Amino acid sequence: MKQIYTFGNYLKSKFDCKVYKVGINISGFTCPNIDGTVAKGGCTFCENDSFSASTGETKELKGFHLNLDSPSNPNLSKQLKQLEVQFNSISSRQHKEYGAEKFLVYFQSFTNTYAPFETLKALYDKALSFPNVVGLSIGTRSDSITDETLDYLAKLNEDKEIWIEFGIQSVYDETLEKINRGHSSQMTKDWILKSKQKGLNICGHLIFGLPDETKEMMLETSKEAYEWGIDSVKYHPLYVVKKTSLANDFIRGKFIPISEQEYLNVLVESIKMKPQNVSVQRVTAGINDSSLLSPDWCRDKNIQIKNINKALKPLGLKY
Ligand code: SF4
Repeated sequence: MKQIYTFGNYLKSKFDCKVYKVGINISGFTCPNIDGTVAKGGCTFCENDSFSASTGETKELKGFHLNLDSPSNPNLSKQLKQLEVQFNSISSRQHKEYGAEKFLVYFQSFTNTYAPFETLKALYDKALSFPNVVGLSIGTRSDSITDETLDYLAKLNEDKEIWIEFGIQSVYDETLEKINRGHSSQMTKDWILKSKQKGLNICGHLIFGLPDETKEMMLETSKEAYEWGIDSVKYHPLYVVKKTSLANDFIRGKFIPISEQEYLNVLVESIKMKPQNVSVQRVTAGINDSSLLSPDWCRDKNIQIKNINKALKPLGLKY
C-alpha cells in the first residue's frame, strides 16, 4: 500500500529531517468577518465566541484587540513574549515525544495577516529567529492580506520556507453566501494566483458538506483549487458545533450534515483528481467534546482515519 503524499513527506524530503508545525495562537488577532468589517457573526460554523478561550489567551492580553487603523501596538512586546512561550513549550514537547528536529511556526487562529504591518513583521521576524525554525505557515483569508504583507513574505521566502493557508471552502459564491463567508471565490483565486506569482507556497482549505452542495460541486471546488496551483491541501467535513448559526439551522432541520459514506466518496474522488505534487496536510476533522452537535462520526479521529484508509485501499493508497 502506497502512502499518500503527505506534507510530512514533503518536509522530510526537503529538509532531510523531521519537521513539525508548531501551532501558535496570538491574542489580539480577530477576523474581519467577526469584527464587522466585512460581516458580523463570522462564518456560520465558526464558534467565535469561545475563540479566546481556545487561543490560550494570557491574562495580560485578555480583551485586547489589535487596532487596524493605528500602526502602534501597545501590547506588541506581550504578544512577542506569548509567541516565544508557546513556541518553546510546544516545540520542546514535539522534540521529546516525536523526535522533531526542525519547525515551521504556524500562525493558526483567526486571520493572521489582519493586523498593522509593523505588528505582523515583528511577529514573523521573531518566529523566524527561534532555533531550528525553517519557516512559517500563516493562516488567513483572501480579503485580509495586502500587497505590502505579500511582498514582505515573498522576501522572507528567499531564505526561509513561507506558506500561506487560504480558506477556499467552496468555489460557489451562493454557498459562500450561505455560510456568511464575507468574500467571493474570485477574491480567493486572485490572491492565490498573486501569491503563487511571488513564489510563495500555498495550502488550500476545502470543506465538504457545505449547505446544499452536491458531490459534483465539491469535486468542482477541488478541481479548481488544484488548477489554481495550490501546493498543499487540507480536507474537512463540515460539522456542527453548539452556539453557532449553523447549529440553529441544524436544530430547525434546515441543515443536514454530510454522512460519513458521502464524505468518504467525495474525499476519495478528490484525492484521485489531485496532482501528485500537491501534498496532503489533513484528510478529516472533528471534535471529541460536548460542543459537537452533529454528525457523531466526526467525534473519533482514529475511527475516521481507519475508515478513510479502508476507502482508499482500492486505490492502493493509505494515509
Ligand atoms: S474566517 Fe475563520 S475565524 Fe473568521 S469567521 Fe470564518 S472560520 Fe471564523
